[in-house]
Amino acid sequence: MSTFATLGVKKPFIQSIKELGINTPSEIQQKAIPILLDKRTDFVGLAQTGTGKTAAFGLPIVQQIDPNNNAVQALILSPTRELVQQIKKQLFKYTKHYDAKVFVEAVYGGEKIEKQIHNLQRTTHIIVATPGRLIDLIERGEVHLKEIITLVLDEADEMLSMGFKQDLNRILKYTSGHRNTWLFSATMPEEIQRIIKTYMDANAPRVEINRNATVNANISHQFVKTTIKDKANTIIRFLESRQNSRGIIFCRTKAGTQNLNKLLQEEGFSIGALEGDMQQKERDKVMRAFKNESLQYLISTDVSARGIDVRDLAFVIHHQLPDQLDYYTHRSGRTARAGKKGVSIALILSNEIQRIHEIEKDLNIKFTETNF
Ligand code: AMP
Repeated sequence: MSTFATLGVKKPFIQSIKELGINTPSEIQQKAIPILLDKRTDFVGLAQTGTGKTAAFGLPIVQQIDPNNNAVQALILSPTRELVQQIKKQLFKYTKHYDAKVFVEAVYGGEKIEKQIHNLQRTTHIIVATPGRLIDLIERGEVHLKEIITLVLDEADEMLSMGFKQDLNRILKYTSGHRNTWLFSATMPEEIQRIIKTYMDANAPRVEINRNATVNANISHQFVKTTIKDKANTIIRFLESRQNSRGIIFCRTKAGTQNLNKLLQEEGFSIGALEGDMQQKERDKVMRAFKNESLQYLISTDVSARGIDVRDLAFVIHHQLPDQLDYYTHRSGRTARAGKKGVSIALILSNEIQRIHEIEKDLNIKFTETNF
């Protein structure tokens, strides 16, 4: 069986990731790391979040940075502000025991651009960015990407569906000719294939993590039949029955998120809301409080469905089922991380049972009916 050492990861990084509980390489890490460390190459990885994808590209990136060169050498694009900050923190942690300094900056919308410009004037080896804000900085002449060696497109399908297509094309054009592109995506819609065809090497190695394996087998899927009127009470009964557990409640709308948050706060629960209309400062504050456990629960729209990694979440509640099937996987993937068990509970109305059967069929999972 391979170890991080046999994959080519150097000792100080192995020591650092050990402290994050990363001891044995996951499938995507086993497959991607040797390729990405061995030679300069484009790369396509079909993998979802929760598979250890961040370390699969992050370790090769930090190991390949030349700390004596002050230029920006790697650019990582990711769809949401929270993910950008999470990746930045991970990379920083990977270098904890490295004797050289690798400087990582995160740039994303919603935060004062002047502050980010100021930070970028210091030595920066790696930029982690949302596409829109990066374009802003490029246009102001505040980012210099001429010496980029590696461009990572993380969650490429999500960036496209969030409307970043033009921005991505511009960034790809702007950095073309002198960098390798590592593209990670959970799905391969036509638009992604077009990006690969236009901007990447036709012989780029491809690694696919079995899609069926991406719906984590440690998650138990349950549904509760309820009524619109009784949904809030159903959630309250559940939270009261599991007082020591932490989890996320997903709602379909921003207003619904805020209303339910208010109601649950009034009931005395330690909960915070996160949705896209909130000021970035507020979003960061809530996410920080949830991650450091000063909030027990998070209530959110799908803005935190993907990628967000919070340890030891025992459950996910779907106040309503998501419109898109993929989002069921993303939402429920917030629980049962790093080998732990978790439960994903959908609150459904009696006319939605058909939807449960569809999800069972499409994702090859089984739901059990429950009650509380
Ligand atoms: P990611 O898919 O990159 O968002 O990672 C999901 C979670 O799994 C993070 O909390 C990582 O720290 C953790 N993780 C990543 N790789 C491993 C590994 N090889 N073994 C155990 N946990 C891991």
